[in-house]
Amino acid sequence: MSARLIDGRDAARRVRERVAEGCAAFTQRHGRPPGLVGIQVGDDPASEIYQRNKAQQAEEVGMSVQRLKLPAGTTQAEMDALLDRLAADPAVDGMLVQLPVPEPLTEAAIAARIDPTKDVDGFSPVNIGHLVRGEPCLRPCTPSGVMWMLDDAGVELEGASAVVVGRSLIVGKPQAMMLLERHATVTVAHSRTRDLPGICRAADVLVVAVGRAEMVRGDWVKPGAAVIDVGMNRRDDRLCGDVHFDEVSAVAGALTPVPGGVGPMTIAFLLANTLQAAERRMGDEPTKGIIT
Ligand code: NDP
Repeated sequence: MSARLIDGRDAARRVRERVAEGCAAFTQRHGRPPGLVGIQVGDDPASEIYQRNKAQQAEEVGMSVQRLKLPAGTTQAEMDALLDRLAADPAVDGMLVQLPVPEPLTEAAIAARIDPTKDVDGFSPVNIGHLVRGEPCLRPCTPSGVMWMLDDAGVELEGASAVVVGRSLIVGKPQAMMLLERHATVTVAHSRTRDLPGICRAADVLVVAVGRAEMVRGDWVKPGAAVIDVGMNRRDDRLCGDVHFDEVSAVAGALTPVPGGVGPMTIAFLLANTLQAAERRMGDEPTKGIIT
């Protein structure tokens, strides 16, 4: 069998198109575009690139974007004051803090302070609580993008056996909740899981978010399964996923490549979340076809 490739670049382009339509309509209704603020602390080069990409794509879909750079050594009290100021600013619909943050800041303190209605990364305890309760909220971008791709590829979730490898707060845990919400039978595997290959082999839908290059081999995968590779790793100067692409593409029914799979969907859903946050704050009907 040769897996059908799930093209994340094309999927992300289609999500961005809908977001752009939604932004144009929002701007016409309210006389201002949806506003996104990206906060970066320190000079980490990778954070700089991520922030620049996010800002550029947000501008391309018609949002107003502000990039704020704080020096390394910023205190939690200073960060809290900034988050509170942005929470009170009516022109700001979404905000995000590029992680990881340097000490003495902590991700947990930021997540606790950020206005949940503007938390476009979906990190705050309030949004995570809503997700677990199955209520509307701003949801983490990467697993939202994965759900969109699975739906777009026509993968049946109800009653399916889904395995999520990885239990991080930004990918594995919310991914498991979203699959459960769609009536999959979900197993969450992690570094202490016994017989990981055997657990993966039982999956109709396998989502891998571990950060270990090409860990999932061909004989870990059920023939015909849908395999979503969230991993982004560098090996021999090239980018590769957590899934061994050549081996798994010979067994799976559908597979996301790396690069060009989940990665582009993450930023597309950051934009989708920003539009959604703006629409919700203004009491608008949500733009259709983006958030499922
Ligand atoms: P974390 O490091 O936060 O979590 C990794 C998870 O993998 C942990 O739950 C860990 O288990 C588990 N794990 C580690 N080693 C093994 C192993 N040998 N067997 C089974 N499970 C294992 O990573 P993230 O969730 O943040 O990211 C995962 C990957 O996804 C990375 O490559 C990252 O770059 C990529 N990523 C890609 C995004 C995209 O847009 N495409 C967005 C976000 C992440 P335990 O909890 O027991 O330690």
